[in-house]
Amino acid sequence: MKLTQRDKAHLWHPLTQHKTASAPLAIVKSKGALLWDEDGKEYIDGIASWYTSMYGHCNEYITAAITKQMQELDFVMFSGLTHKPAIELSEKLMEILPSNQAKIFFNDNGSTAVEAAIKMALQFHHNGGEKRDTLIAFENGFHGDTFGAMSASGIASYNAPFEDFLLKVERIPVPTDDTLAETLNTLDQILQNNKCAAFLFEPLAQGAAGMKFHTAAGLDALIKKCQEHQVLCVADEIMTGFGKTGTNFACDQLTQQPDIMCLSKALTAGLFPLSITSCSKEIYDAFLSDDVHKAFFHAHTFSAHPLGCAAAIAGLDLLNSPEIIYKRNWIEECHQAFVAKIKKHPKVKNARSKGVILAIDLAIDMDRYGSVRDELYQFFLERGLLIRPLGSTIYLLPPYVITEEELEKCYSMFEEVLNSFKLFNR
Ligand SMILES: *Cc1c(COP(=O)(O)O)cnc(C)c1O
Repeated sequence: MKLTQRDKAHLWHPLTQHKTASAPLAIVKSKGALLWDEDGKEYIDGIASWYTSMYGHCNEYITAAITKQMQELDFVMFSGLTHKPAIELSEKLMEILPSNQAKIFFNDNGSTAVEAAIKMALQFHHNGGEKRDTLIAFENGFHGDTFGAMSASGIASYNAPFEDFLLKVERIPVPTDDTLAETLNTLDQILQNNKCAAFLFEPLAQGAAGMKFHTAAGLDALIKKCQEHQVLCVADEIMTGFGKTGTNFACDQLTQQPDIMCLSKALTAGLFPLSITSCSKEIYDAFLSDDVHKAFFHAHTFSAHPLGCAAAIAGLDLLNSPEIIYKRNWIEECHQAFVAKIKKHPKVKNARSKGVILAIDLAIDMDRYGSVRDELYQFFLERGLLIRPLGSTIYLLPPYVITEEELEKCYSMFEEVLNSFKLFNR
């Protein structure tokens, strides 16, 4: 029996309406920017498996590092114990994180990194004798699917059944040059009328919102105002981190520095679920006390898994290697040229790029998870490109190691959809 048929018996997939969804692709092999299904058909992994596999699948440098690690020390808990991979990773991260980041707290996935960030922020104020009960977050933000992270997320299609059970969150729109003054005003009102603990944001690029970009100047102004009110600023760099927006972190393009940062996804080069909540010395110091209850009582069994740390260390070696820096810049330039080429196409509502992210809003109305979106998804799959359209937005976030030929193929499929896709002719 084929894998896709065996899958049906016992598996329940994420983000899937199993009554109507077509069978999932069974992937049996991966290398570089390519995937192969059980029939031997080849696909370009156009979004690096949810922005994780940035140095390519089955990268030998990364797999060798993990293999070596698992033969020396597989796993031990991180409460009361420590190990070299975690220590070495913290040292390496300090070299590239914003200069105010001082401490690394380990978790095991993106949502739990955000969850820890929210709890850190709430307890920071609690330890200081203040009850602050409100979070501030962007409209249409995405921060994960656990309750705290989900509360901060502003995409209604994910949250509707849980709305009555969420943390208290006030929302502000992502500012543009034109609306910044107004947004600062709204923020002022929120700060006056609530006891705000933290402001969570995806810096410069909102992934799940449809790869929407905003300027550093606007975000800087919001962070500055929040920090003036001792509202801790939490940069969720789970998607943007490790080079996606052109710099190592999107926050590198800001003047202000976040108090807390969340890292995951490309952190481990796509090899292992691991995440980090980093923070400034000021935050960490607020948990130091002779009173044991002022400590951060939060742990995940697999925190700081040595295999994940080993993958992350190897990933950092690659991130700023001459080869990868060359490819990062090259993809950025190719994207810019492609945007310039198709920008004026009548079926393009908006085309944009930032770093290695390229996004096109198609001039068509459709639901985020409707049948038209599925047709679009299948259109690319049939031609050998795996991407996940976000409603009418199609985007690429390819592994840095994608070849010129592969990238050209992606672009020509995007052009094909603009010129021939039957959706437009209804
Ligand atoms: C993916 C993502 C998350 C959630 O991470 P998981 O590992 O899927 O829980 C949170 N924030 C952002 C910005 C993300 O892209």
